[in-house]
Amino acid sequence: MDNPARRAILTPMTDEASITADVAIVGGGLNGPALALALARPGINVAIIDAAPPRARAGSGFDGRAYALAIASRRLLAAIGVWDRIADKAEPILHVQTRDGKPAADGGIPAFGLDFDAAEIEEGPMGFMVEDRDLHAAFLDAMAAEARITTLPGRTVTAQQAGAAGITVTLDDGRRVTARLLAGCDGRRSGTATRAGITRSGHDYGQTALVCTLAQEHPHGGVARQIFLPGGPLAVLPLTGNRVSIVWSMPEVAATAIAALDDAGFLAMLGPLLGTDAGAIRLDGPRFGYPLTLTLADSYVAPRLALVGDAAHGVHPIAGQGLNLGFRDVAALAEVLVDAKRRGEDIGAADVLARYQGWRRFDSTVLALGMDTVNRLFSSGNPALRLARGLGLGLINASPGLRRAFIRQAAGLAGGPVGDLPQLLRGQPL
Ligand SMILES: Cc1cc2nc3c(=O)[nH]c(=O)nc-3n(C[C@H](O)[C@H](O)[C@H](O)COP(=O)(O)OP(=O)(O)OC[C@H]3O[C@@H](n4cnc5c(N)ncnc54)[C@H](O)[C@@H]3O)c2cc1C
Repeated sequence: MDNPARRAILTPMTDEASITADVAIVGGGLNGPALALALARPGINVAIIDAAPPRARAGSGFDGRAYALAIASRRLLAAIGVWDRIADKAEPILHVQTRDGKPAADGGIPAFGLDFDAAEIEEGPMGFMVEDRDLHAAFLDAMAAEARITTLPGRTVTAQQAGAAGITVTLDDGRRVTARLLAGCDGRRSGTATRAGITRSGHDYGQTALVCTLAQEHPHGGVARQIFLPGGPLAVLPLTGNRVSIVWSMPEVAATAIAALDDAGFLAMLGPLLGTDAGAIRLDGPRFGYPLTLTLADSYVAPRLALVGDAAHGVHPIAGQGLNLGFRDVAALAEVLVDAKRRGEDIGAADVLARYQGWRRFDSTVLALGMDTVNRLFSSGNPALRLARGLGLGLINASPGLRRAFIRQAAGLAGGPVGDLPQLLRGQPL
């Protein structure tokens, strides 16, 4: 028998309960706001929904991550009006240093080392380090200044329904947002992708990245260091105020034991790995742990849906490329949509979305699998693998052309295997 109370819940929504936009974005982390700004500036109306309470991520205790932004990513941030808001909080990367953390005499295999200097390319610093809290806050400020962006913070998307002319998402407060296109920027466990029936491939690395910020006695000199230890890579990345960001990847069991140490015990483990150049070190903020997985969406698009950033591809942080890859998606999707709008096309149509997928999916998959291989090759004490990587790096070191190509690729200055670099990554507004 029907329950009358249930019928009352199904009463049609009032106008105040529905919001319309050209594009609805789920996820207000980093890629979501970047996409919102890239679209709003050339005249596309956006509604952006994020589950986190407003400004939660702008506090120092929320997320210890800092990002190595490639030159192309800095150009995108400049083109969408964000770079000026964080320029004074960004630390230039002047030198990149990779080292084998295993003793040189081990098994007779010489320790390898590979160094790159900003002077080897014309563009200046090879990249910039920015902290998550600063970047996120800069995005929020830039979005607040943009009339074409409606922000819906502290709201979770619970359902989505694609139709012939548009897509509607339902929020946890019962409101609905209707748009021509939904952009899923909701991270590695994207509910947006799951609800659209998009499956994922990948695996668990069995590794955790311990992340923290250190203040050190001696100047870091803008040097980004990657030390390859048998359990996984240790990255030491320069931040403003003579601080460094630590990303120390290791097997889960070791990470659990090290995470359980008090701060003094933790520094006693970490300090000797950093060598003597840093001088005295101390923690500057809390410690965090990130379990590491590879997760690739089997499609970047579905009817009236496009996935962007970690929702499309969550990669190993070994080369600091995750967000840079996401910004490539943002730049490509924004360009495809703005071009489609100018031509009078429906921006959520399947052929428009196919252009985005064709531009981005192969490029991201190649890079994600590349990171996967690099992690396997470098997180190993196996003598044969150590010899192979030493020879490979020796080859790069000996060839100025290879070195330059390597730096340009890492700086995001080279196009992908499919298509050119999107306009925003070349610093050209849409
Ligand atoms: C240890 C570590 C170090 C890294 N270092 C680097 C680096 O140096 N350089 C680099 O380029 N990348 C780096 N990365 C990768 C980078 O952190 C990610 O690529 C980036 O944070 C992804 O951003 P995103 O916006 O796609 O997703 P997220 O930042 O995960 O944001 C997703 C958002 O979606 C929201 N959301 C989820 N579900 C819902 C829902 N149902 N309704 C509403 N909102 C929802 C969440 O609240 C969240 O705000 C690193 C990653 C790790 C783990």
